[in-house]
Amino acid sequence: MRSASAVALHPRRSSWMALLTTGPVRPPGGRTAARQYRLSVRPPTKVGSVLADSDPARGVGARAIPVHVVSSPCPPDAMNSSPRSSVSTLAGVALALTSSACGGNDPADNTPPVPTTGAWPLELVPLDEAAPAGRPPRIVFLGLPAELDAWKVPEGTGALRPGGADGTPSLLLREARRKRVLIPGPIDPRGIDLIALELSTWQAHHVSAHLVRDGWGTLNSKLVPVGRSLEPKTIEIALPQLHRHDEPFDQLVLSFLGDGPVSLRRGVSLVDLSRESLLPPSTGPPQLVESGGEARRAVALAAGSPLLAETRVGEGAHLILSLAIPHPLALKGNPGRLLVAGENERGVRTELDLPLPVFGDDRWKSAQMDLASIPGDSVRLRFELVDAPTETLVALAVPILAQRSSAPATVLLVTSDTHRADHLGASGMGVEVETPALDALAARGVLFEDCFSSTNVTNPSHIALMTATSPRETGITNNYSALSDKAPTLAEEFARAGYMTLAATSARHLEHATSGLGQGFARMASPNQARDAEPTIDFVRGWLDDVKGVPIFVWLHLFDAHGPYAPPEPFLERYWPAGRDAFDPALPADGLPQMGMPPQFEGLRDPAYPGALYRGEVSYLDHELGRLLELPRIASGIAAVTADHGESFGAHGIYYDHGGLYPDTIHVPLVLAWPAAPAGTRVETPVRQIDLGATLLELAGAPPGEFPGRSLLDSLEGEADRRPRYTLAAHREAASITWNGWHLVLHLREHKPSYGTGHFPRHQVELYRLADDPGCERSLVEAEPEIARRLWTGLVGWLVRPRELDWLERVSQDHELMRELAKLGYVAGKTPEQGEEPLIHRHCGCDRCAAFR
Ligand SMILES: [Zn+2]
Ligand SMILES: [Zn+2]
Repeated sequence: MRSASAVALHPRRSSWMALLTTGPVRPPGGRTAARQYRLSVRPPTKVGSVLADSDPARGVGARAIPVHVVSSPCPPDAMNSSPRSSVSTLAGVALALTSSACGGNDPADNTPPVPTTGAWPLELVPLDEAAPAGRPPRIVFLGLPAELDAWKVPEGTGALRPGGADGTPSLLLREARRKRVLIPGPIDPRGIDLIALELSTWQAHHVSAHLVRDGWGTLNSKLVPVGRSLEPKTIEIALPQLHRHDEPFDQLVLSFLGDGPVSLRRGVSLVDLSRESLLPPSTGPPQLVESGGEARRAVALAAGSPLLAETRVGEGAHLILSLAIPHPLALKGNPGRLLVAGENERGVRTELDLPLPVFGDDRWKSAQMDLASIPGDSVRLRFELVDAPTETLVALAVPILAQRSSAPATVLLVTSDTHRADHLGASGMGVEVETPALDALAARGVLFEDCFSSTNVTNPSHIALMTATSPRETGITNNYSALSDKAPTLAEEFARAGYMTLAATSARHLEHATSGLGQGFARMASPNQARDAEPTIDFVRGWLDDVKGVPIFVWLHLFDAHGPYAPPEPFLERYWPAGRDAFDPALPADGLPQMGMPPQFEGLRDPAYPGALYRGEVSYLDHELGRLLELPRIASGIAAVTADHGESFGAHGIYYDHGGLYPDTIHVPLVLAWPAAPAGTRVETPVRQIDLGATLLELAGAPPGEFPGRSLLDSLEGEADRRPRYTLAAHREAASITWNGWHLVLHLREHKPSYGTGHFPRHQVELYRLADDPGCERSLVEAEPEIARRLWTGLVGWLVRPRELDWLERVSQDHELMRELAKLGYVAGKTPEQGEEPLIHRHCGCDRCAAFR
C-alpha cells in the first residue's frame, strides 16, 4: 500500500491532479455526503488459532523446535488495505482461508469472539458523516515562456517545442547529466506545499527544486526519484519547510540529475494544498505519515470531527496510541488535548487525556490506554480533540488494540548493507575483523556458511528478501523502482498474524515512497540521507516501550559497510595505525588503477587502507548492534542478521563497489538465532537468502503456506537444497547460476562497474569451480565445456521464462517523443530497465551464444 510521501504530503492526488490536467475543481478526497459509514468490529477473533488446526506435519511441532505462537491470525484489514491481485494465487487462497477462520465478517459464524494475544489495528470511522471537506487546492501556474531567454538553461541545451500531437508545449532539456532550469521570481512562498511538474524522462532521474534568495540556494527540496517514463507523468516535489518563510524568493531552480533528455511539459505548478489534504482522510485507509523523521500508519483527526471504533476487549487489553502534528499543520498557542473515551455495553467507562504536542514539536507522541476496566464484546471508543483551536488537525496513528502476553514473540530481521560474508569473526573465513556481537549471536544460533543473495543491489535485494521472490520475477533491478502494492510482503504476513510491525532503515532510497517496502509496517523510520547505525538503532530501542507485551516484527537496516567507508573513532584505529598515510605519493602505486577509483580513494597508494576502513565500519556496526541484541526482549527472541549483498575490493576490476555477480558480492552472512536453537550450529549446505522470510514465519509460528519460500530449517535438518541458485544483477547487466559447486556468470549486455577497470562484453560467459577458486579468478569455460553448456542452458532457460508477476509499474511509451528523441541520437532500449525487453533471446545468434549450442 502506498503511503504519503515526505511530510505526508499525500494529497488526494486525484483532486488536484485533475485540476492540473482538466481544470474543473473537485473537493479534495472526493468526500460525498452519500457515503455510508458503518461501525466495524476489529479485531475479529476466535478461539484457537489457525495454527492449532493446521497440519501438524507442516507446523513447527514436527520439528520439536520451541517457538512462539501467536494466536488467531485474522486479517487486520486496517493495516492491509491493499487489494490482493489474482497474481498471488497462493496468498489469495491463504487469505481466504484465514478470513473464514476468523469470526469477524462471516454472518453465519455465531461463535463469540475471544481475545487472544497480538496487536490488532482498530478500524476508525468518523462520527459525523458530513465532516467538513477542505477547500480545493490553489495552484499558481508558471507556464513555459514564449522565448527561452525568459528562463535560463545553464547546462546542456534547452529547446522549446510549441506543441506535439496534442498541442502541448514542452521544454526539452538534453546534453548534460545535470540539467537545470532557472525560473525568475518573485516566488511568494506562503502557502506553497509542493511543486508539480509534468515530465517525460528518457532515463531515470533525480529531480529537485531549489528556491533562491540573494543568489543563494536558500531552500532545497529532497531529491525525487523518477523512473524512465516517456509517457508524461506528473511528479510532486514536496516543500514542507516553505511554511516557515514569508519573504519572496528571487528564483526557482529545477534540477534534473540523470542521463538522457527530459521533457518538461506545459510549465510548473505551485500547489497550495488545503490543510486537510496534507493527511490521509479519516474515511480512507490509513497511510504512512512522516513527521519528526518517522512515519506511522495514520489518518487525519480534526477538531470537531471525532472518530469512533468498536471492538471486543478482553483481559489485559490496552490501546497503543500515538499522534503527531507535522510541521505544515502546526499552530501557535495552546494546542489542546486528545481525549479517548471507552465504554462497554454495560456502561462502564474509562478515559485517557493526552496533551497535544506544542508548536514546533513534530515528533510522534505515544501513550498507552489500559482497557482492563471495560472488558466486553462491544466496546466503543471515541477519539476526539478537545480544547483545541477549530482548525487543529493531527495525524492519529491507527490505534492498536494489544492483548498482552507474558512472553510476546519478538522477530528481528537485520540487513547490514554491503556486508561481505567473510567479515564476520565467527565465519572463520580468515579475515581479521572483530564482530563480538554477531559472534555471540552465532554462538546461540545457527550460522549459514553458504548463503547467496539474489542480486547485487540494495533495493532489489531487499524487495526480493521481503517478497521471497527473485528480481527476475519482481522485475525490479534498480534503486528507484518501487514494489507494487499488489505484492504480498513479509511485513504484511506478520501484521496479519497479529504482530506490531516496525522498520528502521539507514539509507534514503529504502524509504517507502521509493522502494514500496513500507507495505505492512505500522511504523517506519527512514532518513533523508544515509546515516550511521546509532540513530537508526535508537529508533528501534525507543519503540520497544510502546510495544511491551505484544508480538513484534522489526526490520532494521544498517548502511555502515556501504561506501564511502568512514568508521568513527576508535574503530578505524583498530585496523589502521594513526598517522600512516595511505596516499603518500612516495609509495608505489602497487597495481591500483590510477583512473576510475571512487572519489574517496583517488590517489590511493596503499591497497590495505580501504579494507581497514571497511573492517572499522563492520566493527562499528557490530558494536551498535550489540546495544540492541543485548536487550532482554531481543536476546530472548528470534533474530536474523544478513546482508543485501557484499562488496568487491578490486577483483575483476571492480573497486570498492558491488558490481559483478561473484561471491564477493552475492555471498552474504546469515546468522539465525531463536530460543532453544541448536546453539553454535553451522550449516555448510548452500541456501538461498530469499528463503529467510518463510523461515522466520515458521519459527514465529505464523500460519504456514501463505508466503513463498522453503524454510531454511529443512537445511538445518540435513535436507540439502539441490536447486540451482540464480541471481540477476543491477540494471539487468548480468545473471548467474550456482549449482553443485560450479558458478557460471553470463553478461547480458556490455557493462562496466561504477568504479574500476572492469569491462564485460555482451553475452560473455565465465565458469568457476568455487571449492578450488572461491575468488573466481580462473574461468574454466574452455576446460569444462560440457559443464559450461549445461549451466548456460539452465540459466538461459530461467532467464527466458515468461515473467508472471506484475509488481512494477509498467511504462508505456510516447511514440511521437520517441521518434523525436531518436532523431536526436537517443536510441530506444539502450539500457533496458523495466522488463519490457527479454533479458536474452534463447536463440541468440551471436558468436558467444552459438558456442553453447
Ligand atoms: Zn545495498
Ligand atoms: Zn548472444
